[in-house]
Amino acid sequence: MDIQEKIEKLRKEIELNSYLYYVEDNPKLEDYEYDKLFRELEALEAERPDLITPDSPTQRVGGVSEKFEAVAHKNRLYSLENANDEHELQRWYDRIAKDLDPNVGQMSLFGGDTQNSEFKIPLACEYKIDGLAIALTYKEGRFVQGLTRGDGFIGEDITNNIRTIKSIPLKLFEPVNVEVRGEIYMPVSSFEKLNKKQEEAGQKTFANPRNAAAGSIRQLDPKITASRDLSIWIYGGIFEGKDAPKTHSETMKRLKELGFKTNKITVVQGVEGAIKCIKKIDEKRKSLDFATDGVVIKVDSIMSQNELGFTSRVPKWAIAYKFPPEAVWTKLLRVDFQVGRTGVITPVAILEPVNLAGSVVGRASLYNFDEIKRLDIMEGDRVLVKKAAEIIPKVLKAEKTDYSKPFKMPENCPCCHTPLIEKENEVGLWCPNPDCTDILKGKIEYFVSKYAMDIEGFGESIIAQLIDKKMVKTWADLYKLTLFDFMQLDLIKEKSATNLTNALEASKNCKMNKFINALGIKLVGKESADILCQYFKTIDELKTATLEDLSAIAGIGDKMAKNIYEYFKNEENLKTIEQGLSLGIKPENTYTISDNLKLKGKSFVITGTLAEFSRDKAQEILKSLGAKTPSAVSRNTDYVIAGENPGSKLEKAKALGVPVLTEEEFKNMLEN
Ligand code: NAD
Repeated sequence: MDIQEKIEKLRKEIELNSYLYYVEDNPKLEDYEYDKLFRELEALEAERPDLITPDSPTQRVGGVSEKFEAVAHKNRLYSLENANDEHELQRWYDRIAKDLDPNVGQMSLFGGDTQNSEFKIPLACEYKIDGLAIALTYKEGRFVQGLTRGDGFIGEDITNNIRTIKSIPLKLFEPVNVEVRGEIYMPVSSFEKLNKKQEEAGQKTFANPRNAAAGSIRQLDPKITASRDLSIWIYGGIFEGKDAPKTHSETMKRLKELGFKTNKITVVQGVEGAIKCIKKIDEKRKSLDFATDGVVIKVDSIMSQNELGFTSRVPKWAIAYKFPPEAVWTKLLRVDFQVGRTGVITPVAILEPVNLAGSVVGRASLYNFDEIKRLDIMEGDRVLVKKAAEIIPKVLKAEKTDYSKPFKMPENCPCCHTPLIEKENEVGLWCPNPDCTDILKGKIEYFVSKYAMDIEGFGESIIAQLIDKKMVKTWADLYKLTLFDFMQLDLIKEKSATNLTNALEASKNCKMNKFINALGIKLVGKESADILCQYFKTIDELKTATLEDLSAIAGIGDKMAKNIYEYFKNEENLKTIEQGLSLGIKPENTYTISDNLKLKGKSFVITGTLAEFSRDKAQEILKSLGAKTPSAVSRNTDYVIAGENPGSKLEKAKALGVPVLTEEEFKNMLEN
């Protein structure tokens, strides 16, 4: 392939992936894989500048979909040049230091001689937020228009959707005319919740918070945007007139004063200052609730920015230092299987050890058998491994090699060797042995963990010994252990034994939500436990809840409701809870029980299509008011809501004499 063919092939691949990313919000490549293609193209075009065309991806930014009205930007929006390491950052700095004339513009005001190695250019460092760029126009202090970046010249008009984002002011503290730029993002915690909800509803999940934010802001129905937890960080503004700020840092201060939620910035001197700041941000970003993929470094002086100008795609006065990708390729040596606390068998990838974002990784999660199928994974494959939120990384992709060979699915439990079973309507294989020690270990580890009973000191080895020595068969047995029992364990002296007994004692006065979570009911985690506490005052009330009561709760899906119901019908579980309570556990419900549920106990069935609500949304609203939303009409149904093209449910409602509401009547009922 000659260079021209290579360039054309790369352009096609980049354009296709840009489209999937910018227009469809559905990328197929990891960002760093896309960046690699982009850099390859840049390198080839640098070799042959005569082959550069104005429509090459290296000369353009983003893309525009036809879903929204296209509006020309008053001031163009650019992308950013990337630096992948400190050398690239240094090269950028040397270039701007050379280009800035010491006798021109702000540099002279700062008394700076950029050609003198002692002088350091003031730089503003800030989070590079991984979201979606937008431009907001304010006239006399009022929000009038919001556009996406689009291709930089033309943006999509998403004004109505922007209005639903609470952190974007509709009226400023002063009646100024200003255009501001910022990044719309979805907090990581909200992204995780949204994906869980989408998954439960059988709908498309998002690859990352950026795509979730882009997908949510670019909805045709602003109500959907409003239901997604979006926020913004403002990172720039264009003021006009003689009072316009002289530096980027002043601009940010001014924007904050006007009422904007502004990105945090630190002004440093020269590249050394920037590198120090990058290190600090790298430390801090792991604890932030928004995704950052780097640090943006901008020349602080606006006059110097004007002097440096732009290329066809990026400003010359700014650069994005990108953090190293948290994904690497390595070899899959074999697939091991382990049994978890629910008895489900989970596959684990055993990898050729590889350095991944600072630590050596030898294992990665494969989650379940569906994931194995999806990845089409074989032993000997080349696999792409990514740092996940959990400690154990996950396998993102697999590629075949000459050594790839299929692996054998397990027939027996890797721990107790009991033949594995399949369950109706469930994916995967299960160990059916309730006394399997690995299942028991998993259950106890979960019971003592932070978001459950949070009992300090019970590490893996102590739990393993307690189970192997048959001292503990259920979590309630933990509360029967004495100081003497603990001292029988390897490496446990009196002091640690005392600490363990004290920790158990302290855990008896626990919160009810933590106790519910600790029970380890399938699908019930921390958040669902919180929800249950808002509906049931005591464990006794929860124990006697009917399946209907449970499925009527907003946030408790049908599957989860069934699991909870079945858990409390199981004699063994009830016996263990009884034991635990009689041994002194006192779960205290700290939630206020909502008795303000206007439709508590009422049952609504929806049929046909509603004009203003999706069926999920209508059900969510009803559940949040305490109503139940079963799918079939029965004598117990209080109302049927009939939309366009109702189905046989309407006939049945009429036959049973169940009152039927039109959408309008339903809306009136909600308003009342
Ligand atoms: P970019 O991420 O390289 O940088 C420019 C953008 O950074 C700006 O438009 C702005 O939105 C944003 N930004 C965040 N914080 C900022 C701050 N403090 N100051 C200024 N700007 C800030 O953006 P790009 O040009 O949209 O695209 C390239 C990126 O998109 C790359 O990371 C690339 O990997 C990714 N991409 C991925 C795929 C894929 O298939 N995975 C496809 C296309 C693009």
